[in-house]
Amino acid sequence: MGIVLLKKILLEIDLPWNFDLDLLNDIPCLICGSEGQKIGSVIVNGIELGINRCSGDELMWLSPRPDKRFYDIMYNEHFYNSTCSEQYGYETIDDENRREEKAKLNWNDIEKESPVKLIKENFLEIGCATGEMLGEAISRGWEGKVWGNELSESASKRCIEKGYSIIKGDYSAISSDIYFEIIFADNVIEHLIDPLYFIEKMYSLLKDDGMLCLRLPNTSMSGPTLKLIDHTYHFNPKSLDCLLNKSNMEIAKVIDSGIYHGSKGKTIRNMTVFCIKRS
Ligand SMILES: [Zn+2]
Repeated sequence: MGIVLLKKILLEIDLPWNFDLDLLNDIPCLICGSEGQKIGSVIVNGIELGINRCSGDELMWLSPRPDKRFYDIMYNEHFYNSTCSEQYGYETIDDENRREEKAKLNWNDIEKESPVKLIKENFLEIGCATGEMLGEAISRGWEGKVWGNELSESASKRCIEKGYSIIKGDYSAISSDIYFEIIFADNVIEHLIDPLYFIEKMYSLLKDDGMLCLRLPNTSMSGPTLKLIDHTYHFNPKSLDCLLNKSNMEIAKVIDSGIYHGSKGKTIRNMTVFCIKRS
């Protein structure tokens, strides 16, 4: 007798923007190409999406998934005025004090836990919001290029007002003859349409002994319950390492880095992952 899989309804939500069924695509496992197994449904504006899980590499992802137009509308118009922040986005962008505290904690983790000796020269943050990690890097003695990349027009503007070096727009447009000791991305990779391309791009921007530091949810094998709209992928250390291996990188160290509390006792355990190039 096989295992009986119950298809749970993980979320039923009405979003303040429309999308059509013809925007939906079935997505295979990004790592091995398999179809995966559906572990739950996400019902958006009456349309059924699902969370799939690959039994080989343990990756989980949204499938079928709306195409880029859906996410363009979400990130451009609804991300910082979310109607349900435990499932996508934030209620407001005006939370600079909280981000400053978080930047200090993130830098404490990196300085204390780094598996390689830190050389405080060139630093890049992908998704730098209003620049708190950049400011903290400068005050902690990073003395080369300290750059941020940010998609949001309003957040980029605040960084520029603070005097930071910003590359506006999508990370894929970053072109640089500067190579970085550390690239940091907090809550980025799980939002992307193509995380493998992201890893390849970061590889190309890192020095040979540089390090990619990712902070992201560590999703248990029972599957995600929160951020089911804006997280296109759900990782654990095994699936992330499998993905990194495809681009000649690997995990050097994983640490716990805080818990996000949603409603009804639902939580997200976050991890910070130190990734290096394979020698
Ligand atoms: Zn797979």
